[in-house]
Amino acid sequence: MKDNHFVLRGSFVHTPTKDELVYKEDAYLVCEEGRCAGLFDALPERYALLPIQDYSDCIIIPGLCDVHMHASQYANKGIGKFITVGWDWFTKLTWPEESRYGNPDYAERAYQKLVEDLVRSATTRSVMFATIHREATELLMKMLDKAGQGAFVGKVITDHSSISELLESTGQALSETRQWLENTMGRYRNVKPILTPRFIPSCTKEILADLGQLVREFGLPLQSHLSEDYHELRDWVQVRFPDAKTSGEVWDQFGLFGSQTPTVMAHCIFPPKGEMELMAKRNLMVAHCPSAGLTGHVAPIKRYLNAGIQVGLGTDMSGGTPTLNLLPEIPHMIQLSKHWWVANCQRYGGFETEKPLVLSAPEAFYIATKGGGAFFGKVGSFEAGYAFDAVVIDDASLRDINQRPVNQRLERILHSADERCVVAKYINARKVL
Ligand code: FE
Repeated sequence: MKDNHFVLRGSFVHTPTKDELVYKEDAYLVCEEGRCAGLFDALPERYALLPIQDYSDCIIIPGLCDVHMHASQYANKGIGKFITVGWDWFTKLTWPEESRYGNPDYAERAYQKLVEDLVRSATTRSVMFATIHREATELLMKMLDKAGQGAFVGKVITDHSSISELLESTGQALSETRQWLENTMGRYRNVKPILTPRFIPSCTKEILADLGQLVREFGLPLQSHLSEDYHELRDWVQVRFPDAKTSGEVWDQFGLFGSQTPTVMAHCIFPPKGEMELMAKRNLMVAHCPSAGLTGHVAPIKRYLNAGIQVGLGTDMSGGTPTLNLLPEIPHMIQLSKHWWVANCQRYGGFETEKPLVLSAPEAFYIATKGGGAFFGKVGSFEAGYAFDAVVIDDASLRDINQRPVNQRLERILHSADERCVVAKYINARKVL
């Protein structure tokens, strides 16, 4: 029997659409040729000879996809939340830590902890910023691939407005990026490179034009930050691009806003007039980071969904979640959308409207799985043809005195489970945990 033909038995939850959570109690998920072949109430006769992994007591979900994290800031996890001035975050925490990755020995030790912890988490796929350092970025990609984690990883590009340790000349930024691509493209099974300009304020016009050329040449996806700060457009973008009405327009004029390549932008908290329309037109993905605390504001996620814009979930490690655990970010998303609604409802029909712009549970679960998974292809669902990613969660340690249906067990898991409850994990049909 081939390694990539097998069956998982357990209780399953997934969201084929954002409108419905599908629960299957005591069911069978078949892996055929490394992909999902279907979720069945009873195992069809044709699969009767396949080996069965029995997780009857557990809940199995498609892996969670973290579409925005800074791998190099994992060492800072859980600190910095007491900082109240945004700029201090960069000068006191982010930049000093990222500067250390010029030392490959430090990078290896720090990334080792990240990769080990990621394997134990419920996350199967990540879209990551590394740092400007090519060697350390390649090291991270190699380690992730060896562990079997799925990822897009980016060597960060910064040729404007940073400290000297994290600043490259435009020529260096381009040549190092090209070298990095030559070293990593097509090299790994689970890990791929992604172009990673930090954000418009840290990039010259010249490097943005060069990146447009790289996109055309290599067909690479791209990640960055967009509208994270209220004054980003006025104070940082329009200073150098005075005609731009939105930051998206600037990206777009260089062919870096989804027109030529899959693009994910983190935060998108303050979309100026016209930006959402352009994002929908360009099929852009929003990386929603509910715990990102730099501005303390909440992105209008339900409006993005209603506009037909793709949304995924991100930790924004370490400016966001204090751990890699994305499970509680699902109910957190719902709660924050309620806060956003309370603050903004007067502009959208008030409290009396029948359609409050609040996320539902299926929508939040979808964002964390199939929504972000779309950046990786057919990922984040148990539908036939999807990549065989599955996370097995044993909720016995949550100490429920009552027997409950799957939907209530899932709710408890999302609110209170962490990596200690993750007992097995499959990515691309490989058992990585
Ligand atoms: Fe970020």
